[in-house]
Amino acid sequence: MLCPACDTEMLILEFNRIEIDFCHLCGGVWLDEGELEMLLQPDNTGAMAVSGLMADLKKSDRPAGKRKCPVCRKTMNPVELSIEPVVEIDKCIYNHGLWFDKGELEQIMSSTGAAGKMSAFLNSVFKKKSN
Ligand SMILES: [Zn+2]
Ligand SMILES: [Zn+2]
Repeated sequence: MLCPACDTEMLILEFNRIEIDFCHLCGGVWLDEGELEMLLQPDNTGAMAVSGLMADLKKSDRPAGKRKCPVCRKTMNPVELSIEPVVEIDKCIYNHGLWFDKGELEQIMSSTGAAGKMSAFLNSVFKKKSN
């Protein structure tokens, strides 16, 4: 799949048997529908927190973005996650998945108290690819 931000072929990473698409150029992460919840399943508290977050998505004030869903190539909707500080992510209008700019996924993980393994995993990936 192509990165919604820079149109580069993304790398497929595997974490807990879940495929994560990662852009090595901009550091963004694409998660298919439901994968955010799956990522956090080993940690029940985190999974519940995230389900709550997903149910509470607010439409962002940002004008419709230029990011296109890598699955259907339709322009995605900017949405806000109600955590502090607010994190703005892009969501496919057909629910193919979510796009996280660099650092946004970790921000969500740490806000939901589910940073743990996933955050360590992403950190190692980001460090490896950041040169
Ligand atoms: Zn990119
Ligand atoms: Zn889509």
